[in-house]
Amino acid sequence: MYFSKSFVPILKNNPTEAKIKSHQLMLRVGMIKQSSAGIYSWLPLGFKVMKKIEQIVREEQNRIGVQEILMPTIQSSEIWKESGRYDDYGEEMLRIKDRQNREMLYGPTNEELVTEIFRSSIKSYKSLPQLLYHIQWKFRDELRPRFGIMRCREFYMKDAYSFDLNDDEALFSYNKFFLSYLRTFKRLNLSAIPMAADTGPIGGNLSHEFIILADTGESKIYTDKRIFEVNSASTLLEKNSLTNLRLQYEKFYSVTDEKFDKKEFEKVVPEDFRVNTKGIEVGHIFYFGDKYSKPMNTTVDFNGKKVFVKMGSYGIGVSRLVGAIIEAKYNDKDEIMKWPISVAPYHCAIIPMINKNDTTNLEKSNKIFEFLKFKNIDAIIDDTEENISAKIRKFNLIGIPYQLILGKKTEGDLFEFKEINGETQKISIDEVASQILKAKSN
Ligand code: ATP
Ligand code: MG
Repeated sequence: MYFSKSFVPILKNNPTEAKIKSHQLMLRVGMIKQSSAGIYSWLPLGFKVMKKIEQIVREEQNRIGVQEILMPTIQSSEIWKESGRYDDYGEEMLRIKDRQNREMLYGPTNEELVTEIFRSSIKSYKSLPQLLYHIQWKFRDELRPRFGIMRCREFYMKDAYSFDLNDDEALFSYNKFFLSYLRTFKRLNLSAIPMAADTGPIGGNLSHEFIILADTGESKIYTDKRIFEVNSASTLLEKNSLTNLRLQYEKFYSVTDEKFDKKEFEKVVPEDFRVNTKGIEVGHIFYFGDKYSKPMNTTVDFNGKKVFVKMGSYGIGVSRLVGAIIEAKYNDKDEIMKWPISVAPYHCAIIPMINKNDTTNLEKSNKIFEFLKFKNIDAIIDDTEENISAKIRKFNLIGIPYQLILGKKTEGDLFEFKEINGETQKISIDEVASQILKAKSN
């Protein structure tokens, strides 16, 4: 891809309407474009990042045995009346009428719909557990949409749902998701801390939010800083080891503000370990038992008895994560953004110095591009006539993790290559590829 042909509408200056870094940067480098309040179009750079995040989320759901489905964005009000949430949800729900005057809505979440799908087909406890997820747009008519795609009205979410026979099995499902979230955020190069949370309008009794520390976050958190050191590297998908995994985190006091109790905090956390800060909620898991299965009469047959299934739900803010990664990775001091390689819009920027009458560097760039493509390395060539330092500034801003520079001095088979915030090396194209591939495989 040539930069001159790519749809990356970069702005000269930071947009004044944006208050936080991620929003500024996403508008500045043309990742998104607002279409109306809290509703955005995703342009190629932003869309690529979001799709890569989505794919990692998907792989980590599949890995714990969740099955992917796709439910519609528009739902009928009937099932929401059954659960009792049609009235409870209030003004955050966007309500629509179709031409027959039927009450419809744009789904803010999918507990009701998935329960309806489950109850129409699953009759026996022998089919349990059922773990289902989809990745779909949601709409919540937020009172104050702000910070770009971090708190918007239409957003992209992965939501999963578990159905089990009893509490014990349901907790096993819950713990699988707990593990899968730790793995997902690790692959996104984020340190997301699980914190005991309130269950809010979803309801229920057990819940964790996964939070990235950031000054611009909207969640207040109170935690014991030893929780940051917990290492959850390898865990089997097996009851005991998953319970132990969760216990390793739950040993430490770590809560969001709805659950905060000052006395308790001061009692259990030694002064030196107390952290009171802000974070961004990127995921949220809930266990709520029969909260929906009861009113929606969803049972399975167990030895001749009808038993209400026990349910949980598990969300990840796929679109919010794009902004959250920027908040976590942007380096204010050097004004450099470095995307984790797993989600970078491109792996490498090829930056040739271009003179009007000399196409040598551009031709070399084309060859390098083809070579990298063959190695599954996604590159972009800056074929514009800007000077080299302007080009480098531009790619520092966009945040593509590697830069390969073809300047005046480039001769023979060695190239100037650097990680965006690293030292320049002079190496062969094979070595370039092997460094990028190594980073990709980590
Ligand atoms: P918040 O407390 O931030 O309003 P929530 O608790 O209402 O979020 P959940 O119902 O737990 O959200 O939704 C699951 C995930 O979807 C959240 O963890 C978050 O990452 C994302 N999300 C929720 N609301 C929004 C929004 N308005 N814009 C973007 N992402 C959102
Ligand atoms: Mg939440």
